[in-house]
Amino acid sequence: MRTSTVDAACVEGITPGAMFLAGGTDLLQLWKTGVISPEQVVDISRLALADVNYADGVLSIGAVARLGDVARQPDVVRHHPLIAEAILASASGQVRNLATVGGNLLQRTRCPYFRGAGPACNKRKAGSGCAAIDGENRHAGLFGAGATCVATNASDLAVALAALDADVVVRAHGRERRLTLEELYPLPADASAPDSSLEAGALITRVEIVGGARFALRSTYLKVRDRASFEFAVVSVAAALRIENGMIVEARLAAGGVAHRPWRLRHSEAALVGAPPTSESFAAAGAHAMADATPLAQNAFKIPLLRNAVARALETVGGAT
Ligand code: SF4
Repeated sequence: MRTSTVDAACVEGITPGAMFLAGGTDLLQLWKTGVISPEQVVDISRLALADVNYADGVLSIGAVARLGDVARQPDVVRHHPLIAEAILASASGQVRNLATVGGNLLQRTRCPYFRGAGPACNKRKAGSGCAAIDGENRHAGLFGAGATCVATNASDLAVALAALDADVVVRAHGRERRLTLEELYPLPADASAPDSSLEAGALITRVEIVGGARFALRSTYLKVRDRASFEFAVVSVAAALRIENGMIVEARLAAGGVAHRPWRLRHSEAALVGAPPTSESFAAAGAHAMADATPLAQNAFKIPLLRNAVARALETVGGAT
């Protein structure tokens, strides 16, 4: 079913078993393999939500804007290169030309037990358990996981947006609300592990970044993956700094591949502010990134990987411009 207005889509989306479809790069694959079986598909690809605007220091990116278009948009390239870099590190050019911003943020985890016919998966069936905890967990997260789910969020874009303190604007029941990335992605709790906090019929309409251009000269997205292309992050880091008079005055760090949501490295950020932009400061920030990490049997290798990725990303952005 195709809808022509956002509010009509929201109403259709409330139907039990309904799912929104835009680019379809993740949903169709999950449907084909039987992981999901929507009762009704609400086509939102033609909604007027594809614009990218930059005015008064606010970048607004429509939810059905194609990733490839966003990465090429001049205000993104010039004022928010971190977003362009993260997008270009995702998937392939062909997929980026189809996939949308909202769909990317709501893509499902790559946990093999979720994608395959896992014996127990709280994401597929709440209360069934988590096969990854005692099974194959090389891909699993280091932070914020419990006994419910140790899966990681697969979006590169979300990591960059988290570092830039983006707001996700959501429409539901005729009203608009704004969510931080942390509010959009709840941590697993009790016996369930929802991918997002969005209720049935709630539709992401756009993403907004306020004042992100102040990091334009000193930001980077570093992605460590098993293969050079078309691969999800083992670990990734979005880093952004502001340096004045030889001192770091603002630091933003978010990590991907390590938690159920993009993970802000706030201990590292705090250690950087007021410090000089030196290799010692960057190495110390990398060490702080490890606070609260709780590895499983097969994913402890991510700890030094993340520590080194943080230091390396900071070296990239912290040098002379
Ligand atoms: Fe399912 Fe999450 Fe466990 Fe993977 S980690 S098996 S997605 S509950």
